[in-house]
Amino acid sequence: MSTNISRRKFVQGVGVATAAGALGAPSLVLGASKKVVIVGGGTAGATAARYLKLADEGIDVTVIEPNEHYYTCYLSNEVIGGNREIDSIKFGYAGLKSAGVNVVKDMVTGIDAAAKKVTTKGGESFDYDRCIVAPGISFNYDTIEGYDAEVAEKIPHAWKAGTQTTTLRSQLEAMKDGGTVVMAPPPNPFRCPPGPYERASQIADYLKREKPKSKIIILDPKPKFSKMGLFTQGWKDLYGYETDNSMIEWHGEAEEAGVVKVDAGANSVTTAFGEEVKGDVLNVIPAQKAGQIAIDAGLTDDMGWCPIALDTFESTIHKNVHVLGDAAIAKGLPKSGYAANSEAKVCAAAIAALLNGKEPGTPSYVNTCYSVVGKDYGISVAAVYRLAKDGSKIVKVAGGLTPSDASAEQRKREVAYAHSWLHNITADIFGS
Ligand SMILES: Cc1cc2nc3c(=O)[nH]c(=O)nc-3n(C[C@H](O)[C@H](O)[C@H](O)COP(=O)(O)OP(=O)(O)OC[C@H]3O[C@@H](n4cnc5c(N)ncnc54)[C@H](O)[C@@H]3O)c2cc1C
Repeated sequence: MSTNISRRKFVQGVGVATAAGALGAPSLVLGASKKVVIVGGGTAGATAARYLKLADEGIDVTVIEPNEHYYTCYLSNEVIGGNREIDSIKFGYAGLKSAGVNVVKDMVTGIDAAAKKVTTKGGESFDYDRCIVAPGISFNYDTIEGYDAEVAEKIPHAWKAGTQTTTLRSQLEAMKDGGTVVMAPPPNPFRCPPGPYERASQIADYLKREKPKSKIIILDPKPKFSKMGLFTQGWKDLYGYETDNSMIEWHGEAEEAGVVKVDAGANSVTTAFGEEVKGDVLNVIPAQKAGQIAIDAGLTDDMGWCPIALDTFESTIHKNVHVLGDAAIAKGLPKSGYAANSEAKVCAAAIAALLNGKEPGTPSYVNTCYSVVGKDYGISVAAVYRLAKDGSKIVKVAGGLTPSDASAEQRKREVAYAHSWLHNITADIFGS
């Protein structure tokens, strides 16, 4: 979808996706209030805010977000690899404000679904007709002995972009040539399935350039991973993968390769095999669950993720509360920024319809994920999805991967596409 989409165009689009397409017209429920409160101004929350306003200017939209700026995780691996500055992935909320969204800098501490009220750390309270909860992820620190939020400041996961991204970058810069980087990817399901392998690639790109005697050891709790064929092909082409001089070693053939313990003093990790591996730089990415506020609000299942209706993203636990992005169980979609952006548009269209007394339409969804494996070497996966007829899952209807026999020119173009995607999606999300 174009980033400079006009309100008229989005309303037309919504019209296609809705039964009657009468959004933007005066509310049929005359005098009804139309208040939407959004918890979290990240990828999903900010997109939903902007698209609600595009669908119906009359909706009173409030986004509550504790941070002044948002750092995208997407392309943050290039910061870690020394190929991008952190400021290039930093975004503010001026675009949302100029679209008429009320942006409140605060942290939501309570969602009372019965009273339809959100309360904040700053002591404020906000009534809503519909609430959107888009808090991203939190971490299951108790799955790795010796690793918690405090240790993560020293041994960063860098799975939420910002200061930990630059800490990891600095640690790599300080590492001697001949050093070892140990990476521990998380178990499924987790934010950005190709992310750990793109990160390993970006670190390898840096080491190849600056510290060629160094090595990356990946201790994976999974026997396979997203875009595995394309990544390992890239690692062979660029980093000598599976040769005696390979810069990347991946261990994941058996689940036991995963990390169960961290010794911050010794700078080592221990796998479920009981093997201790020492590193000069450690990057431990723990198991994940929905953002804490979703858990506190009782929106999660036993696994810590939020069950939702896939056409409206309304929680199946609490009425009038919708959950978007990584926190939601969007069966069939990956936990990606592009998917979060797509879900937010579906949800915005559905809420605008519901607040105007209409039935939400049948949605479609989209996702593309680029990974920059090295200099002039990009790969991607793209797909278009629809809701299954029985509404039980989201199914892929078209898409594909970068061909394994892509030319050098095509691979170089994928890098340019990745960079322009960042530009386009952030303009679409934040409106600036
Ligand atoms: C290294 C890495 C690389 C990635 N690369 C890609 C990529 O190339 N392409 C792609 O599509 N995706 C990528 N992703 C995934 C993408 O970043 C996420 O899927 C996406 O950010 C999910 O959006 P979200 O809105 O659910 O969460 P977020 O974007 O994390 O937003 C959540 C927001 O909620 C706020 N919040 C949390 N709790 C509260 C509260 N109590 N009150 C108020 N606000 C709150 C947070 O401050 C945050 O701003 C990558 C992720 C990583 C880690």
